[in-house]
Amino acid sequence: RLYNELIELRGNIRVFCRCRPLSSNEITRGCLSVVEINPSQETELQFVPSEKERKAFKFDHVFGPEDDQEAVFSETLPVVRSVMDGFNVCIFAYGQTGTGKTFTMEGVPENRGVNYRALEELFRMSEDRSTSVAYTFSVSILEVYNEKIRDLLDESNDPSKRLDVKQSADGTQEVPGLVEAPIYNINGVWEKLKFGAQNRSVGATNANELSSRSHSLVRVTVRSEHLVTGQRSRSHMWLVDLAGSERVAKTGVEGDRLKESQFINKSLSALGDVISALASKNSHIPYRPKKKHRDNLIHSTFAGGDCKTLMFVQISPSSTDSGETLCSLNFASRAR
Ligand code: ADP
Ligand code: MG
Repeated sequence: RLYNELIELRGNIRVFCRCRPLSSNEITRGCLSVVEINPSQETELQFVPSEKERKAFKFDHVFGPEDDQEAVFSETLPVVRSVMDGFNVCIFAYGQTGTGKTFTMEGVPENRGVNYRALEELFRMSEDRSTSVAYTFSVSILEVYNEKIRDLLDESNDPSKRLDVKQSADGTQEVPGLVEAPIYNINGVWEKLKFGAQNRSVGATNANELSSRSHSLVRVTVRSEHLVTGQRSRSHMWLVDLAGSERVAKTGVEGDRLKESQFINKSLSALGDVISALASKNSHIPYRPKKKHRDNLIHSTFAGGDCKTLMFVQISPSSTDSGETLCSLNFASRAR
């Protein structure tokens, strides 16, 4: 039975790799690309840091500099749709700062990312009159920095409000007190996402600095009711833009910066534990988080057991980033 469970779980994690284009600044500086993607091979990339070195990495899908938001989303669709069938879903972006995590998840107004497109799809599906299920949606937006959770939709913005993760009776993770804003249409979503983003940058001297040090999470709650049988269900879709992976294991930092690195390190390595356990048939799955990880939202988010997880490993093609790129590729390979 356990073996069957594991097989099933192995089917529940997908890893996509997305390599951004060289930036104009990198091109001006003469940086070369160390990533080779053959468009006819959708699941493989070659990491070529020098003439003598070459290493192949396989993923469920590889997106190169030419692949646009739409191409990325079309592969993401099946996971998004499963939240409507009552599955918990988690989609997150992992990688070094500047590799396109926010571009993939949030996107830019003229070129929107997974968050917006996913919600658009949920509304589209809920309007399908051929089903006898009624759906309602709500959204929560939070930020995790140094293991403190900030509710970005809380208008009172009370700094003494302390949010925590609790496991509820049905085994899912709850954050009691978190604002859950009902959304009725796609315009409402855009308003909420904008409001959350504004709230996020309050007090930040540099938005990019802040995003490299904190995790940003959007939680969509889907409630359904079958109009004939009355059967109800509730599921969550987590959309996560993680802190920059380069923050992990940096030497020579002290004080607050050291504490901060340790927190980020802990949450990303907890994530790594879950992923590698899922990927290996023999190991014990740390769904019940290790004590040191028990209060960790990032860990708990993926540890629900029935969660369908999609990880975007974001990488830079630039020769100047090849060290971090190799780290990210190796991290992601543990998941397969
Ligand atoms: P991160 O969130 O990982 O720090 P960003 O999403 O902020 O990275 O991306 C860094 C820069 O690269 C941004 O200007 C973004 O618009 C650009 N960028 C990232 N990925 C792509 C892509 N696939 N195509 C075009 N531009 C991209
Ligand atoms: Mg970002």
